[in-house]
Amino acid sequence: MRRPFIAGNWKMNLDRAGAVELASAIAAKAADYGHVELAVFPPTIYIEAVRDAVAGTPLGYGAQNVYFEPKGAFTGETSTAMLIDLGCDYVILGHSERRHILGETDAEVNQKVHAALAAKLVPIVCVGELLAEREAGTTGDVIRRQFDGSLAGLSAEQMQQVVIAYEPVWAIGTGKVATPEQAEEVHKDLRKIMADRYNITVAEAVRIQYGGSVKASNAAEILAQENVDGALVGGASLQADEFLGIVACVSR
Ligand code: PEP
Repeated sequence: MRRPFIAGNWKMNLDRAGAVELASAIAAKAADYGHVELAVFPPTIYIEAVRDAVAGTPLGYGAQNVYFEPKGAFTGETSTAMLIDLGCDYVILGHSERRHILGETDAEVNQKVHAALAAKLVPIVCVGELLAEREAGTTGDVIRRQFDGSLAGLSAEQMQQVVIAYEPVWAIGTGKVATPEQAEEVHKDLRKIMADRYNITVAEAVRIQYGGSVKASNAAEILAQENVDGALVGGASLQADEFLGIVACVSR
């Protein structure tokens, strides 16, 4: 049984007070949804404040990125040990904004995945096609390439620690959500890739979130798909009621 997992990616939004307020409001209700794993991803600078706001509640938290080197002259970067020091359990890796705005490659994502797993952080690894790639009918190829590049060299045991987020780039922050059928098709494809590269046990164990303009009003249909194990939520995670409205769509 895969435990559903809803994650809120706050991106580069909020200030310290806003982050604490939002985390507190979600944390106050988190215990009502014990069947769902819940986590928020504040800007790195506010993780410590969020840690204090959610202490003693089931709401988890993590970072939106990490660097793969353990320490040294890497100005502006954050190490896995620093995230562990702040009590993080998770890290989002290979988000499309990092891939397409900041130029992150599959090879870099792969180094970060290895570093995260070595530090016992759960990586949420994002994959997803551009609109032009979907229109050209190459979605399957893109997903395979990103899977093989970003997740290279993992043992079957390590693979099972990973959460994959399928996030079609054309659906992120655009209000254009994938249809439940489109999401299910790619999620099934990802399980097939894992069955090919590893085995059925791995393919059935790994959780695959959908991300891309999920909100309370469209979440139920997507989350009801057999191979959709939760959501990675951007914009709608910035309002507690909206985020909790998505969580409420996860069936018990
Ligand atoms: C995201 O940033 O991962 C995301 C899915 O954003 P949004 O929900 O705003 O489309």
